Order: sequence, then structure tokens, then C-alpha cells
Amino acid sequence: MTVARERQNRIEADVVIVGAGPVGLALASRLADTGRRVAVLDSGGPIPAPDHDLGTGTIDGHIPYFDLAECRPRGLGGSTGLWGGWCEELDEIDFEPRPELVDDRIATGWCLTRKDLDPYYRDARAFCGIPDVVPARDWLRAGEVCVRDCPFELRSFPVLGPRRPGYRGWDPCADERVDLLLGATVTRVVTTDRGDAVDHLLVRTADHELVVTGRAVVLAVGGIETARLLLSSSSAAWPTGIGNGNDLVGRCFMEHPHIDAVRLHGDPAALDIEFFLERVGGVTVDGERMATAGALVLSAAASRAAGVGRIQLFIEMAGDHAKHPLPRLRNGRRVSARYAAPGPRELAVISSTEQVPNRDSRITLSSDVDRYGVPLPILNWRLTRTDHRTAMFGIEAAGRLLRELGATNVRRRLPRDRWPLDTLGGPHHLGTARMADSPADGVVDGDCRVHGVTNLYITGGAVFPRSGYAPPTLTMIALALRLGDHLSPAPAGR
Ligand SMILES: Cc1cc2nc3c(=O)[nH]c(=O)nc-3n(C[C@H](O)[C@H](O)[C@H](O)COP(=O)(O)OP(=O)(O)OC[C@H]3O[C@@H](n4cnc5c(N)ncnc54)[C@H](O)[C@@H]3O)c2cc1C
Repeated sequence: MTVARERQNRIEADVVIVGAGPVGLALASRLADTGRRVAVLDSGGPIPAPDHDLGTGTIDGHIPYFDLAECRPRGLGGSTGLWGGWCEELDEIDFEPRPELVDDRIATGWCLTRKDLDPYYRDARAFCGIPDVVPARDWLRAGEVCVRDCPFELRSFPVLGPRRPGYRGWDPCADERVDLLLGATVTRVVTTDRGDAVDHLLVRTADHELVVTGRAVVLAVGGIETARLLLSSSSAAWPTGIGNGNDLVGRCFMEHPHIDAVRLHGDPAALDIEFFLERVGGVTVDGERMATAGALVLSAAASRAAGVGRIQLFIEMAGDHAKHPLPRLRNGRRVSARYAAPGPRELAVISSTEQVPNRDSRITLSSDVDRYGVPLPILNWRLTRTDHRTAMFGIEAAGRLLRELGATNVRRRLPRDRWPLDTLGGPHHLGTARMADSPADGVVDGDCRVHGVTNLYITGGAVFPRSGYAPPTLTMIALALRLGDHLSPAPAGR
């Protein structure tokens, strides 16, 4: 490991990974086992922290969003220093094309199936140190009364809590096989004159610039930074940005809109609310008791029948949703949502739903630049009528279910025609370099290689062509491990 490398002008490796978040680290761990020379570069230090110069950006559009520097800490472990740690997997339906959900002709399927990812989910769970199966305790009253007829399934999943995956079984700082360079920001991806391969990366540290070359280069910098780096690395061969010949880089930004959707009164014991709350116990891993949480998930059959996206609902004490620690902005101003104080024993159903891809939801470049002269990103997060219909479907079904269970004073909080001001994101940054077999439909192919650039790969949320309902990090890690197997034993060379 090299935390502050002595002045050096050139680094070479078989595989260069940009980004030491969970995704870059998972890939590095996979490749380290194969004897490849791996270099991992990360902009931040050993403890992830927001960088209000390199990590900032503008929030544009109709929905406020988190301060971009605050929600994307830089450094070893990336945003997992902050994350909630909910580890869920996508279902088979989430990998399938669902053209009925999109307004224009956007390809919606993955180039792989859930089955293709199964072995990598297993390895991703091992990498994170979580069990294969988290037994779902029956939600007794729901089991007896409602689940048979309602469109939801009960799910239970592990909650890791803030930590840096990889630190359980593998420590990148102690692994001599990985050249880890912290405080190293990639400012430009430079391709060959023809644009068909990456020639080198330009990298800035606090006091000098260096050139890094690799037979394969992987961007694992998160969904917003991926678009920013590709767009800002434009050249004669790629005049609108690398991989952007079909104007798709940065478009189709997807989140999981979270809303405080339904308020109700009820006896928490009678509603068996404990099932839904994050709680420690039940599962023990390596002698440690791990938290689990429960949720209601719209079944694949119900999602298809209703022509809506996937939905996940949690129940919590009213008011908790408003306590999100990250500041939110819109058009340069801080937004604070005002809430009526919750009544005694008031509960809230939080809905987190699939956002379908739409081209207007996107990352573009600002004329403002960071301290290294790289243009800052502008985020314009846009939701569609389909997204609203999905949320409304979940809310109405949840209202019916909870009334049957004895809840009273059930109030829907989503207006018919707009999103509430307290709509939050995951924060999950997906879709900005989407996967598709054809370059007309996507930026990367099924191997996560940028169409038209033989040795440039992208991994992480950027490649998701659909968002599904599940928090995405476990899937991102599975994809990174799969990419590791693709790159070794034969990394793409020039
Ligand atoms: C508050 C919060 C709660 C969350 N809760 C959950 C949850 O419960 N479940 C879940 O699945 N997900 C959750 N997430 C999302 C999760 O943290 C991300 O999906 C995950 O961290 C993405 O991993 P990554 O490695 O792709 O990117 P990141 O974690 O963002 O790491 C990217 C790394 O790249 C580095 N980098 C960026 N640009 C450059 C550059 N130009 N040069 C060099 N290095 C660069 C950064 O320094 C950073 O360390 C949450 C996120 C937040 C903020």
C-alpha cells in the first residue's frame, strides 16, 4: 500500500482501478488473487470525507437533492463510511426488459440475467461478511390475514451499518499485491488518437501530476463522477466525451425516490411493527450479532399485472424520515422540509420505488471547475408520470393492507400530481453509463466495457440500465467481482 507516494511521474499496472469505494475494492480483491499487478487510485485519504472542492456540484431541476460533496465522501471505502448498510439483491424481473414502463425508446433490460449474477452475489455476500440467507420471521398477522391476497411479499435482509466492506476478510492497506495510491485524483482519461483505447490517465496529487497506464482501466468512481470524467475527457476522437457517440453518457440518471407516503395510527404491537424495524439479533456472523430489517416488496407478478415499477415499503415511527443527516439543496439553496410534528403513536410507511430510465434525468457539465480545472457536474434529477404511478400504486395498496390490519386514520401523503418536498434519494446514483448490447442503447456492453474503447471498463451504479427496488451496493459489488473474472486471466490489451 502507498498512502502518500514519494514523487513519482509514472505508474504502470495490468489493471488500473480508479476509485477505492466498495466497488473498486471488491474488484481489487478479486484481481489480487490472480497475480495481476493492480493499482488502485483514490482521490481521498484513509478515512472517507466530503471534499467541497473536488466533490461539489449544482443541483438543478424540480426535486431537491443532497449536497453532492456531502453524499459522496472521498477516500478508502467511499460512501460506505456513511451508508445505511441495507444489503438486498435484485430479483429476476429486475434484469428483464420492461418497455411498457418507459415513455420513449430506451432499452430497459440488462445484458445478463439474475442467474448469471447468482455466483457473484454469493461472493459479494462473502466479501461483505453477510450470511447467505436471512430467515424472514413470519409477520404473524400479515401471514394469517393479508399476505395471501395482498400484492406484497415479506422480505428480511441484513444491515451492515457504516463500515468499509473488504475489511472483514481482506485489508487493502495490508495487501502487498495491490498498489493503493490515496490522495490521487484522475483528472483526465486520455485515449489514443483514434479513440479506440485508453492511452493513459492524468492524475493529480497534492503536489504533482503523474501519468498512469494500464492494460485495462476501470472507472469505479460512482454514478455521477463516471459521467463527469467521461464527458470532461472529450477529444478530437470523442468530441462530446468518451463513449458518448450516441449522447447517452450522463443521461437516464436514476435514484430510488423515498417518500413518507402514508401516516396511520395503530397499536405498534398489534400491527407487529417490530418486524419492520432494524434490529440486532436473529443472525450471527463470525460471532457478531448482525442487524436485520424487514420490508414489504411488491411481488414480480403484481408489478407486471399493474404495469408499475418495483416497490419496497418500510414502516417506522413517524418523523424519522425527516431526520436525514445529509443537507439537501435546490438551485443553490438549502432546502429544509417542514413537518407537522407527528402525533402520539403515529406511524409512517416509507415508500422506496423503482425509477424508470428517462433521458431528461441527467448529469451535465458546468462552466465552473474544481481546483484541477475539471468541470463540475450539474445534476438534474427528473421523475416521470410512470414513477409517480408506481409510488401511488404502492401507497394505495399499503393503505388497504394496513386498514385490514386494524390501523386507523390512514392518510396518504403523496399528492396526485407532484412529489412532496421531502422526497429523498437513497443516495443511489445509477444509470449514467448504462449497459446495453448495442452502442445505440448504452455506453458499456455486457462485460462493462465502453463500446468502442477496447480497454476501458466501468463498474458500479453507472452501468445499471434499470434500478429495480433494492438498495444497489450488493449488486454493484457482484458486478465488480464478475468484471474481475472477465479481466483475468486475460485483461484486454491494446
Ligand atoms: C447516507 C448513505 C446511505 C446509504 N445507504 C445504502 C444502503 O443502505 N444500501 C446500499 O446498498 N447503498 C447505500 N448507499 C449507497 C452506497 O454507499 C453506494 O452505492 C456505494 O458506496 C457506491 O460504491 P462505489 O464504490 O461505486 O462508489 P463510492 O462509494 O462513491 O466510491 C467512489 C470512490 O471513487 C473516488 N473517486 C471519485 N472520483 C475520483 C477521481 N476522479 N479520481 C480518483 N478517485 C475518485 C472517491 O474518492 C470514492 O472514494 C448509501 C449512501 C449514502 C451516502
